[in-house]
Amino acid sequence: MKANVVVLPGDGVGPEVVNAGLSVLAAVCDAANAQISIDVHLIGGRAIDECGTPLPDETLDACRAADAILLGAVGGPAWDHLRGERRCEAGLLRLRRELDVFANVRPVKVHPHLADRTTLRTEVTRGTDLVIVRELTGGAYFGQPRGRIGTGHDEIARDSIVYSAAEIERVARVAFALAQSRRRELISIDKANVLITSQLWREVVTALAAEYPDVKLAHELVDSFAMRLMREPASVDVVVAENLFGDILSDEAAVLAGSLGLLPSASLGATDQGLYEPIHGSAPALTGRGIANPYGTILSVAMMLRHSLHREDLAVAIESAVEVCITEDVLTADLGGTTGTDDVAGAVAREALRHLGVHSGAAS
Ligand code: NAD
Repeated sequence: MKANVVVLPGDGVGPEVVNAGLSVLAAVCDAANAQISIDVHLIGGRAIDECGTPLPDETLDACRAADAILLGAVGGPAWDHLRGERRCEAGLLRLRRELDVFANVRPVKVHPHLADRTTLRTEVTRGTDLVIVRELTGGAYFGQPRGRIGTGHDEIARDSIVYSAAEIERVARVAFALAQSRRRELISIDKANVLITSQLWREVVTALAAEYPDVKLAHELVDSFAMRLMREPASVDVVVAENLFGDILSDEAAVLAGSLGLLPSASLGATDQGLYEPIHGSAPALTGRGIANPYGTILSVAMMLRHSLHREDLAVAIESAVEVCITEDVLTADLGGTTGTDDVAGAVAREALRHLGVHSGAAS
């Protein structure tokens, strides 16, 4: 394996959690003699400060040529006043759109050791192991027309939810295929009783089900599903939703795991290339303190090894190591622990090497 990974540390705790992820990646790749070149570029607030834009052309060109992209997080108070295309989020949205990574895959697994760390009762969260597949490059975040017209009481603001049948079909295929590799149950989310885009969504997903006869498909309205997710999350396997619904539901699902800092994501398109990032933001209050939870980024690295770099063995080594470390209370402050970001990474790297059969003091 010789892979080219573009790294976009971004803002706030982004560089800290990305460093942690990269140290684990380096440890397993060294052990497996897998060669990876790391190419670091600017995005978000730091890119605005240095280049005047949240997504410099140089960054976009490097990402286009990469096998995989690892991103920290963008944004922070210093850039909150910016509007339109100069916002940090605008750079991230454009990157996802330009790379055409239309399926955002967000696994949510409740570790037995952390089942009591959420605001929900343990008997509700125990056994939760679900994946939300969120459409990422369409819907309300991109639809035209959008904008503001007029002033005062007459001012009108408009966003548009726009989906083509092809856009729905391609993300639904990702979700059906994922369900086939798991418990074979897919819930398609919509608001078909009100929204016309949801009616098309339901028709396209229903028609596609004939190609996946081994997958049990159910349709649920987004509002009632939001309640089910809190009432009986362990009964959910794979979920597919349009961009806005998926954004909200996946953050809601994050509550189940105990901390936003635990959860990884992969944004995938039609090729093997993918964009990998923890689901959390730049956590400004934690920046520079060395206490940010790096598990979401480390698990994003595992997803990158699996999907883009085709190293299932190394992905499993990292995931198994995270399981062990959590069980052994290697936890950051957000989970009630006292371990720092770098020390979590060191512990995961050591455990991953043990899993790979390498006993070395090199990773610390
Ligand atoms: P956030 O995810 O940064 O923080 C929400 C809460 O989770 C905070 O209490 C924070 O301390 C905690 N948290 C987040 N990551 C953590 C980690 N790794 N370890 C421990 N605790 C963690 O969301 P926010 O506060 O709404 O936004 C902060 C900034 O991040 C804003 O500028 C926002 O626009 C940006 N943001 C970026 C992304 C992204 O880059 N994908 C996503 C969401 C928010």
